[in-house]
Amino acid sequence: MTETRKSHLFYQSRQRRPMLDQARGVYMWDIDGKRYLDGSSGAMVCNIGHSNERVLEAMRRQMEKSTFGYRLHFETEPAERLAEKTAALAPEGMEKVFFVSGGSEAVESAIKLARQNAIATGEAQRWKVISRQPSYHGCTLGALALTGYAPLTAAFDPMMRPMPKVPAPRAYLDGLDPNDEATGHHYADMLEERIRSEGPETVLAFIVEPVGGASTGALEPPAGYMQRIREICTKYGVLLIHDEVMSGGGRTGKFFAAEHWDVAPDILVISKGFAAGYAPLGAMVAHNDIVENVLNDGGFLHGFTYAGNPLACSAGAAVLEEIEREGMVANAARIGDELKAGLQGLMAKYPVIGDVRGKGLLLAFELVRDRETLKPLPRELNAYNALVDIAYEKGLIIYSRRTRGGYEGDHFLVCPPMIANSTHVAEILETLDASLAAFLETTVDRRLQAG
Ligand code: PLP
Repeated sequence: MTETRKSHLFYQSRQRRPMLDQARGVYMWDIDGKRYLDGSSGAMVCNIGHSNERVLEAMRRQMEKSTFGYRLHFETEPAERLAEKTAALAPEGMEKVFFVSGGSEAVESAIKLARQNAIATGEAQRWKVISRQPSYHGCTLGALALTGYAPLTAAFDPMMRPMPKVPAPRAYLDGLDPNDEATGHHYADMLEERIRSEGPETVLAFIVEPVGGASTGALEPPAGYMQRIREICTKYGVLLIHDEVMSGGGRTGKFFAAEHWDVAPDILVISKGFAAGYAPLGAMVAHNDIVENVLNDGGFLHGFTYAGNPLACSAGAAVLEEIEREGMVANAARIGDELKAGLQGLMAKYPVIGDVRGKGLLLAFELVRDRETLKPLPRELNAYNALVDIAYEKGLIIYSRRTRGGYEGDHFLVCPPMIANSTHVAEILETLDASLAAFLETTVDRRLQAG
């Protein structure tokens, strides 16, 4: 949009957007009164919808008592309560919770705890953290070194220690059947090969998004993959870290996405849906033994000033209560199936949609030039921006990234809040339908006809 309002703010680019006035449930309004359906929950954050009255009330009550209590000076009731609730949701034996203010901080915390555990257990030669290509684990330098998304990492390569990458299991691009366990084992075995070639005694951890986020567009692991990587990590004494920053919190139809495969990591991280946008909050949850090892060895050399902030923790606790009270995880599974079927319907109508994927309400579709070869659209079309802008004009917010190495390919995350109902789904699909038609007419058809 063309914007003349002066601003002293800057983020990634010069792009301007309208000024937000208010947000309620799945809708947001700008100051001109235009309404938007938040079809991506922000950046897959506002999982319980906007302005939930019970969460606001819990925050108001906490605000009247205290908004800050430094962790070296006080323990706070909201932090204790939220840690207890979080531990109860985590896999058995993972009862230790470390609070942070966002996803990147949570990932940094996880790799530093893993490293200190290795030192504490006499394995100081372990420092390499294997991750996947593509992946997204955060923008701070430690988390960025694990991120497989060259447009975001390349400029900073000289400032980071390179970390080994293995291919993400994108069976659909490799022409493999995602429902065949042999496919899952094929990709998991690449991890084993990499651990061996790096020297198992040097490998500290493997980090994985159980259901992919922005970089892969809601990639689901093929059958057998999650179980096999767990076995491989255990075999080589490599810690398994689940990055559930986006997939955790119920959006996939289970509170932690890894529950779909009944596997437990050694450390997990959660953030976006944890306080669902009501306050900046994230957490690392670790196996008791790891925390014992580190605390017995002199303590964890890491911590953020805002960690365990009572206001943020009161929001987090209230969000977890709302998720449970309203049965939102089950709703995410049910409405997610409905939305996915609708996206598949759009795929049947528009050959430009090459794939629909994801679980629950962590869903995405990908545009291609040719559905047979899955060749992407010409990169100069910038479809990933163009379609988002068209939908935005029509009052629907979706989230996009480039699929292939971050430089071409276009996928779109469709992830409304977990309170979405069938009427909202119908509105999303209708607006997407109109947006795709307008996109094809104004962008693709003209461009492809011109050669
Ligand atoms: N890990 C995953 C899987 C993410 O999706 C993100 C953010 O998109 C992060 C880590 C980083 O979180 P944050 O942006 O809160 O630092």
